[in-house]
Amino acid sequence: MLPLIQRADSFRDRTAISDGATDFTYAELLSRSEAIARALLGDEEDLREARVAFLVSPGFDYVAVQWGIWRAGGIAVPLCVKHPLPSLQYVIEDTTARSVVYGPEFRERLEPLFGPIDTDFVAIDDLAGGAQELPEVTRDRRAMILYTSGTTGRPKGVVTTHANLEASIRTLVEAWEWSEDDRILNILPLHHVHGIVNVLCCALWSGACCEFMPQFDAGEVFERFGTGRINVFMAVPTIYFKLITHYRQLPVEDQRELSRKLRAFRLMVSGSAALPVSVLETWREISGHTLLERYGMTEMGMAISNPYNGARRPGFIGQPLRGVTVRLVDENEQEVPEGEPGEIQVKGENVFLEYWNRPAATAEAFSPDGWFRTGDIAAWEDGAYRILGRNSVDIIKSGGYKISALEIEEVLRQHPAIGECAVVGIPDEEWGEIIGASLIVEGRQLDLQELNDWLRERLPGYKVPRRYLFQDELPRNVMGKVTKQELKQLFA
Ligand code: ATP
Ligand code: MG
Repeated sequence: MLPLIQRADSFRDRTAISDGATDFTYAELLSRSEAIARALLGDEEDLREARVAFLVSPGFDYVAVQWGIWRAGGIAVPLCVKHPLPSLQYVIEDTTARSVVYGPEFRERLEPLFGPIDTDFVAIDDLAGGAQELPEVTRDRRAMILYTSGTTGRPKGVVTTHANLEASIRTLVEAWEWSEDDRILNILPLHHVHGIVNVLCCALWSGACCEFMPQFDAGEVFERFGTGRINVFMAVPTIYFKLITHYRQLPVEDQRELSRKLRAFRLMVSGSAALPVSVLETWREISGHTLLERYGMTEMGMAISNPYNGARRPGFIGQPLRGVTVRLVDENEQEVPEGEPGEIQVKGENVFLEYWNRPAATAEAFSPDGWFRTGDIAAWEDGAYRILGRNSVDIIKSGGYKISALEIEEVLRQHPAIGECAVVGIPDEEWGEIIGASLIVEGRQLDLQELNDWLRERLPGYKVPRRYLFQDELPRNVMGKVTKQELKQLFA
């Protein structure tokens, strides 16, 4: 039996899942997922890695379906509840899903696909029957296909095995000291590695409780924090930004009360995009916590993390997690010296098996000696990695220089009138690329000449943006990541 499910048996009476009002035990999760597995099997003995896509809101049913697919020997393909129909259709067709399980609230949304796609659409409530023995599912089998966030292009299906997942879970549970006394509030989408592995699987592996909130809402998050029961929280930087904004609008009394509650937390994590130092610092003032920033990817789960015990350096992603080997290389895949930028490459049991149906992309993603090429650039400085961004969009090649967009964004954010910002390279005949910055300006107007002078006091001339775009909102995907390709087009 898969260890995640086997372990659940030792936590039978404990609460596994809660929606804040109703609690579900591990025993309930085991019996519901077993029933779902049987129903999915029908009269087959084993789904044998058939893809089962599912569109279910975060909560007990979601986990029961996910475990049910695993227990029946299938590959779980979680669909994003926020995606429009064409994106759902893309994933269902790309994985040639054998069936699509859906929660009742999604029936209407999915209905237009019932005829056109040759798949079996099943409502959760209709999953009943079947008396099959459950198959023996070994660790080497494919467990899940997760689609990348689509920040740089069309999302790719990332295939992970049960062994990959287990390696990720074991490493994180140990590194971040999970225990059965933990209770985490999940606000992250459950079609992505951050919510599925770091939050859900780690909690359930540990006998802890995962509490769900169907939709992110800053006020409601604070209400849940206010119960004093939650002690772990994980989010992307934009969520912390929204929480800070909401906190500032609260009456002083409420702020004080909330800050007191937050100080009792055990752990607060940020990841999936670079954490602005300003957000880290403000959140520290509010909560007393230095956010633990870590670096990971759909293709490998988590690879590098600031320490649970020990100094967390703002602007740094920390050190390789246990079981993960990291190197930084130049264009010729030669290791770079300390302090020099290089591509992060990774080896470990956490690294994915393949891109679904994309043998060429899979081959391309690994070096001849088996290192996974992340496409992200970092430097090793004084015992920790500092991330400089994605080679494809964040490293701007201008007049022979390689400039990190993240570094310029950090400086821009220090300007009192600038809220959020994003920096990209704009194609230019003379320079190769020139630097463009999209700004969200708070309150008063920004004088460009003044901004330029202000930047020149803080950055060398070649790093000062040449073009600006003023926006009300940055273009972001459902993971809250700025879609820089889109931004580049806006500049063009
Ligand atoms: P796609 O591959 O479809 O373009 P994506 O790369 O955003 O989308 P994910 O797998 O969700 O899909 O994200 C992984 C990427 O997120 C990493 O490659 C890295 O660029 C970025 N990332 C993750 N954690 C951090 C972090 N702490 N700091 C900076 N960037 C991070
Ligand atoms: Mg990616």
